[in-house]
Amino acid sequence: MARADDLTAEAAFARYEDIRPRLPRSAFLQGSVACGGLREVAEHVDAFVLDGFGVLTVGETAIPGAPACIRDLRARGKRLVVLTNAASYPHAQAVAQYRRLGFDFAPEEIVSSRDVCARRLPGLLPGAHWGAIAAPNDRFEDIPVDMVRWTARDAPAVDGFAMLSTAAFDAADYDTLESALRARPRPVVVANPDLVAPWETGLSKEPGFFAHLLADRLGIAPVFFGKPHADAFADALARLGDPPPARCAMVGDTLHTDILGGRAMGLRTVLATDHGLFAGRDPGRFIAASGIVPDFIVPAP
Ligand SMILES: [Mg+2]
Repeated sequence: MARADDLTAEAAFARYEDIRPRLPRSAFLQGSVACGGLREVAEHVDAFVLDGFGVLTVGETAIPGAPACIRDLRARGKRLVVLTNAASYPHAQAVAQYRRLGFDFAPEEIVSSRDVCARRLPGLLPGAHWGAIAAPNDRFEDIPVDMVRWTARDAPAVDGFAMLSTAAFDAADYDTLESALRARPRPVVVANPDLVAPWETGLSKEPGFFAHLLADRLGIAPVFFGKPHADAFADALARLGDPPPARCAMVGDTLHTDILGGRAMGLRTVLATDHGLFAGRDPGRFIAASGIVPDFIVPAP
């Protein structure tokens, strides 16, 4: 994995602010309500859109109490969907992973940014031969386009690049990709807009991190699929039966993806603070600095 040992939550936050002109715009309320957990927020909404990393899991571990909370919300009749910026592996594997960690999500209750991308990629550049920056064992069988793995060591001629995973993406891969795009500009699609992701041992650099670097350095406009961009929320709300957005809460650990994107779609927003990007830090400082104000703040689900 592309570990970002040098990258702190403060640096990731500062970078999110740098790239903010490329994110949706939204207006925010002035204050947040502190709650003990999602059971309290449940009094205000009928449905939850749940982020994965930092809310339900950290790396490959379930956050303590999260599976029980999800079962409890379901027992109270709340509708649930996971909306996760994750594109390293296909849907079936995501479903199996949540099962293994003790969550009771049905397959249709999980929407990943990979799914959002896979639905739209065929229409983006019909007939194109895509080069995928992907996890080493990825077979792309769930993505209905012509797609081959692309790395610095084996860089086939392609019509566009799809950034699915940067788990095995190193500096040489980045330099080769930037050179290839400099030599011949082509579309760049990003199936995980996150800059970083929290793991048990620290933050990893995610596809969005490298895509925004390309945008800065080459002046290109990557196409982003996933939070905070609207398509992802539209797909998640469709799974919930398109309820009134104000009766849904987006729960996430990241202001610039979960809270910004949720609010832009008219959802109530819940920042989970204890296990995600702001773990061990005062989230109020980041909220004040960004003006991205969640409706509710909870330590964990
Ligand atoms: Mg997260």
